[in-house]
This record gives sequence, structure tokens and C-alpha cells, in this order.
Amino acid sequence: MSDILLEEVFIKRSQQKKKTSPLNYKERWFILTKEKISYYDFDSEKMRRKGLKGSVDLEKIKCVETVQPEANTPQERQFAFQIIYDEGPLYIFAKHEEVRAEWIKKLKEMVRFNKELMQKYHPCFWVDGVWLCCQQEVKQAMGCKVLDSKNDYGLKRRVSRKPLPPTPTEEKPASGPGLVRPLPPQPLEPPASSSILTVIAEYDYSPMTPQDLELRKNEEYSILEKSDANWWRAQDKYGKEGYIPSNYVVEAEKGLEKNDWYCKNMNRSQAEHLLKSENKDGGFLVRDSSKAGKYTVSLLTKGGGETSGVCKHYNICTTPQGQVYLAEKHHFNTIPELINYHQHNAAGMVSRLKHIVSNRPSPPSTAGLGYGVWEIDPRDLTFIRELGNGQFGVVKYGKWQGQHDVAIKMIKEGSMSEDDFIEEAKIMMKLRHENLVQLYGVCTKQRPIYIVTEFLANGCLLTYLKEGLTVHPTTVQLLEMCKDVSEGMAYLESQQYLHRDLAARNCLVDGNGTVKVTDFGLSRYVLDDEYTSSAGSKFPVRWSPPEVLLYCRFSSKSDIWAYGVLMWEVYTLGKLPYERLNNTEIVDQVSRGMRLFRPQLANERIYSIMSSCWSEKPEERPTFQEVALTVQDLLYELQYV
Ligand code: ADP
Ligand code: MG
Repeated sequence: MSDILLEEVFIKRSQQKKKTSPLNYKERWFILTKEKISYYDFDSEKMRRKGLKGSVDLEKIKCVETVQPEANTPQERQFAFQIIYDEGPLYIFAKHEEVRAEWIKKLKEMVRFNKELMQKYHPCFWVDGVWLCCQQEVKQAMGCKVLDSKNDYGLKRRVSRKPLPPTPTEEKPASGPGLVRPLPPQPLEPPASSSILTVIAEYDYSPMTPQDLELRKNEEYSILEKSDANWWRAQDKYGKEGYIPSNYVVEAEKGLEKNDWYCKNMNRSQAEHLLKSENKDGGFLVRDSSKAGKYTVSLLTKGGGETSGVCKHYNICTTPQGQVYLAEKHHFNTIPELINYHQHNAAGMVSRLKHIVSNRPSPPSTAGLGYGVWEIDPRDLTFIRELGNGQFGVVKYGKWQGQHDVAIKMIKEGSMSEDDFIEEAKIMMKLRHENLVQLYGVCTKQRPIYIVTEFLANGCLLTYLKEGLTVHPTTVQLLEMCKDVSEGMAYLESQQYLHRDLAARNCLVDGNGTVKVTDFGLSRYVLDDEYTSSAGSKFPVRWSPPEVLLYCRFSSKSDIWAYGVLMWEVYTLGKLPYERLNNTEIVDQVSRGMRLFRPQLANERIYSIMSSCWSEKPEERPTFQEVALTVQDLLYELQYV
């Protein structure tokens, strides 16, 4: 079992998963680990833990909040909190406010990246078939109170309007006083779920090492071990075992992924581009909405017989009962059922969904080239062409083992403190996010050493902004770029990893126009005083806040400052910040409060995001998590409201 983070005896209310199941309150021994919150029966005399009564996986949690006590609540149940997950609310009562606050804070911290966090909740209890706060009689009814964006515990949540799915499941046995209704036949409270996870491969994967397991698209695999987040140990249906890249599979019962019309991680501009390039009337796809946890149908129509079509975007809405719909009156339990219906009926849309347009994207990058591999054999590399020249020397495009695209940085001797970097590379390899350029490995047995990374076909973001955009970009497109960077950086922030040189020149653009952050943490290994000293000519003065310029104080708050400048670069299509000033003038003026002006393409809302990154006091600047949410909300409003 993994390490215990918190443990405490609390009173737990029975979960009333069935309307008829009785309400009772029992003392349970609660244990919080990195993976789950579990509760046990215990011997109150010897203070010894006994049998496990139940548990909730942290990844399933959608909300953690306080609950207002009911009238005439006994003293020992004054400090209630609720954990909402797919089986409804779990109510827990702490003895003191401090303990409750500690648990809520810790839990919120641990679930803040969960996919389905709610933005509304019920501040009062669900009792005898009714929510005491809003009198709604459906347990799954969407919350009636909006969560404060800045709540007592200082954490902001990722928003999702998805209400709870329908939940009727078995209830645990009940006993003791307070029974009003006859007991239904009761199964035992289920123990912690230890069922084997079954996944489906979204892509083929050919083993890169003998320890890896081959994946075939659409086949099922059982997961045996997840101790490395990027490489899971799995078993195929023939019983063969090995490591697979965790981002190549989806949980069997979840996944829209198995539907050809679903294009994960595709944004509005990319969807329009794809639909227009196919140019079929009624061509459609389903993609993630800019709002986390929501989905959008993008549809191309050539209504009046025009040659080029028009794209329409429809949000998939959810009823308070958890059903989904596109047009009113036609509600469905699942998105595939909804799509199936609209493939035959326009029912409120400009056209029915006639042709699936899919770009089943090329497989995502894996964290390294095979499980446990970070040293790459240079004989496996073929050099194809030069991509550019950077601080460490030449960067080339090539293939690994003749088939995988890679970028290879050939580190000019004397330009990098190599031993330190090689040590760090092992950590960097584990960082994996779709908006970070993936480090695949290093060749360190020869000189010059190579750094091998994911290859991005559209190259450097700065050049792309200046020269690569064929048509004038819309403000939505520019904001999508900012969103990509904010999400990559929010991930780095969650890993407590500083970039130290965030700027448009250190972002790359892939073939679909997705932006990814690169060169994170690398500046620490540069051997060049002009670059590393804040007085040097190559120091990123234009991207640095006063505390870095004056006292070399780096933090995630100096990264966020740089992010504001990067947004400014995006909205000026690659202008040099403080164009007319030299470095000395910038240090002087920025530390006296001067800031970059509002770019013409940025409206006040967008400018206010950049400006918030440039607060004089580091602690007043937002976190990347907050910026990512603000950008996400704004993008949503620009498109749908
Ligand atoms: P350095 O970090 O050594 O300063 P850069 O990362 O700036 O080098 O790389 C130099 C140029 O090479 C970039 O401007 C970009 O055009 C190209 N490049 C670097 N890495 C990649 C990559 N992974 N995919 C595509 N192009 C790349
Ligand atoms: Mg660089």
C-alpha cells in the first residue's frame, strides 16, 4: 500500500444509494493515500484498524466541499464535508474545523487536475430523496450553488458542467437506531475495488525494446502495473506481458476514442481546417470543447450548393439528469447514441451528420523510446536535414530506426555542462504532456552528445507567427496558441518544474498547429556568461520580471511573467518586446513600473490576462493553472456565448 498522507477517525454517513436505504452514522478510520481515500472499521478501545469498508479512487472525485449542518445537528456532526464522485456524495464529519479544513485542502490539491470537476454543487445534504438546499428530488440534479473560483482554500478548479451520471447501485447494510423504513435485501458493502483495469489500444505500437509489448489498435489489454505513469505493464489476450506507452490506450468502458468521429485534442480552428480540406457537405466530427469535460460537434454544410462549405459548431449539452442533447427534445443517454440519431436526423441542425471526417492523428509521442530507455544508440539515428542553429549548436531532423521522426540537437562541445544535464535528462524524460516537446533520450557515449526529441513539423513558434501563417489569424486562433502553452506550463507547474526561458522562440508548432513548449530547464546547463548572467547580452531580459533582473530570483512566478510576454508576442505576431529599448533601458524602466502596451489584435480581456502576469509583486501574479482556466473560459465565450 502506498504512503499514508492523512489519517483520522471521522463519522461517516451511510450513502443512501437507494432511496429506500436508511440513514445512519458510523465512526470509521479514514486513510488518505496518493491514490485513494479508504475507510475502515476499527476497534475503538484498542484504537486498532479492522476491515476495509470502502474506498474512493481520487481520480474519480469531482468535488470536495463543506456541507452546511442541518438544524438541530448534534455537536459531533457540526463540521461536515462532502466528497462527490460518480456514486454520489460521501458525507464525512470531522470533530474540529481545523481537521476538516486540512482534509479539504489536501483533497482539493490532489484532485485539482481531475477531468470531471464540477462547477456547481449542493451546499446542503441530500436527505430522504431531496436536496435540502434546492428541494430538487433527483439525486443527480446539478448543484444549485456555483463554487467560488477563489474559495477558502485558495485553489481554483477546472470547470466542467457535466452533472453526475445516474448512479443507482447497491447500498451497504445498515443498522442501529433511526431506522424508519423496512430494509431492502442488502448486499455487503463492497470492498475497495481491485478489479483489473481493461484498456483498448487507440494506436498500434511496435515494441522498441524487448521489454515492451506490441499494441494492436482496438484490441483489449489488461493492466498489471502502473508504477511508472508513462509505461504500464500490460498483458494481451494471449497472456503475453510487457510495457506499453500509457498514452496509447484508453479505459475500455470510458472512451469516445473508439469512435472514428471522435477527434481528441482537436480545437476549433483545426476542426474547421480538416472539415474544409475534406469539403464534404455534412462532413462532421466530435471534438473536445474548449471547456474541459465538454464536447462539440463540428459540421460542414454547403447549404446553398456553394462550392466551399461553412462550418457550424454545436455544443453537446447535458440535462440535469445527465442525458445529452444537441437539439432540444431529443435526449440520449450517451454521446454515441446521440450521434447515431443525428446521422439520420438533422433535427434542429443545418444538416444531418452525413460523413465522418476523421484524422485519427498520428500516434502521440511516448516518454522515451521504449520502457526504461533513455540512452539512445546513435547508430539508430539517420540525419535527414538541418532544422536550425541554436545556443547549443546545430539541430537536425532525422529518423530513429528508420521510421520515427525525431529532432536531434548536436551539442557543441563546451556549450553545455554535460554531466549535470545527463543526470537531469532522466527526470526530464518523465515529463509528458501534449503541450510539451517530448524528450526521447540522449546519446552520451560520444562527442558531441545528442539530445533526441519529438519533431514538430512547423518549427519555431516565433518564426511561425512572423512568416508561417498563410491567412490572417483570428483572435480565437491566437488564443488557442496561448491555451496550448498555458496547459503545458500548468503541467510543468504541477510537477514543480521551472522553465526559466519561456518565450515564443522556445515553443514549437506541430503539423496540426498545436503549440508545444520546449527547452524547459535547459538554461541551467548553458555554459555562456552572455546567456546566464542577467547582465549578459543573451540573457532573456525582455521576458524577465523585476525580481529576476534585480536579484536573479527565479520562481514559477517569473515563468508566468514570461508567459505574459509570450502572449504579447503571439498577439503582435512575433514583434520584439520593448522594440525600441536596449537591455539596460528595459531593466531600468520595467523595474520602475513600465509595461508592454496592448497589442492591436488583443481586446481588453486578453490584455488583462497578460497584464495580470506582470504584477509588480510576484505573489499577486496568477498561477499557470489559473491562467489556463481563464484562457479556457475566454475561448469558450468567444466561440459560443
Ligand atoms: P537551442 O535550444 O540550442 O537554442 P533551438 O531549440 O532554438 O536550439 O533550435 C534551433 C532551431 O531548430 C529552432 O529555431 C527550430 O526552428 C528548430 N528546431 C529545434 N527543435 C526542433 C524540433 N523538435 N522540431 C522541429 N524543429 C526544431
Ligand atoms: Mg531554444
